[in-house]
Amino acid sequence: MADKILIVEDELSLQETLSYNLKKQGYEVEAVGDGLAALDNARQAHPDLVILDLMLPGMDGFEVCRILRQEMTTPVLMLTARDDEIDRVVGLEVGADDYMTKPFSMRELMARVKAMLRRVRLVREEINLAASPAAGPALSFGDLVIDVTRREVRVSDHVLALKPKEFELLHFFAQHRGQVLTREFILERVWGWEYIGDSRTVDVHVRWLREKIEPNPGHPERIVTVRGAGYRFEG
Ligand code: CA
Repeated sequence: MADKILIVEDELSLQETLSYNLKKQGYEVEAVGDGLAALDNARQAHPDLVILDLMLPGMDGFEVCRILRQEMTTPVLMLTARDDEIDRVVGLEVGADDYMTKPFSMRELMARVKAMLRRVRLVREEINLAASPAAGPALSFGDLVIDVTRREVRVSDHVLALKPKEFELLHFFAQHRGQVLTREFILERVWGWEYIGDSRTVDVHVRWLREKIEPNPGHPERIVTVRGAGYRFEG
C-alpha cells in the first residue's frame, strides 16, 4: 500500500509542484491550502506524513502542528522560510519531526520524505518487536528506567512526558552507553537521514531531554557533551 502524504501549502504553484513530484514517486497525495482543512483531512485520512508550511492564512503552521501532535503521532515535516524559527519548530512547544528551509531543492525534499517514512516503518517494527514476548526487560540506570515495551520513561517512578523523538533518542543513547556518539551518527540513526543533516536538531533534542532526565540540567551527568566529538550517555 502506498504511503499517504498530506501537503499543507497555500502557495498554489508550490503545492502543485510538491504534489506532482510526490505522486511521481508513487505516494498517495492530498493537498490543502489552510490549517483547518489540514486538521480535517488528517483526522479523516490518517496520513503517514504531513508536509506543513509554516506561513498559512488564518491558523499558522505552529498551531496546526501543536494540534496534530496532541492527536496523533504522524511525523511532520515543516517548511519554514526563516532559519531562526528552527529552534521553535523542532522544540517541545511545536514538535515538528523535521524541517526544511525555503527555498529547498525538490530532490532534497524527496530524500527527506523517504528517510522519514522509512524511520516510521522502523519504529513500528521495533514496537512490534518490543511488544512480543521475546522483548527484554526495561533498561535501568539508577532511578532512570526506560521501558521499551510501554515506550515509557520513568525517573524515581515518575513517568516523564517525552515526545516520540525524545524517547527514540534516549533509547538510542541507552543502547550505546559509554560510547561517544557524533551528532552525524545520531542524526543518521535516530532521524534516518541519509546525508549529513543539521546537527542543531540533535542539540535541541538533547537539551530538552536533559531538562527532563538530569537532576541538574545545567551540569548534565547522564548525557554529557564530549567537546569536539558529540555526546556520551553515562547512564
Ligand atoms: Ca505559505
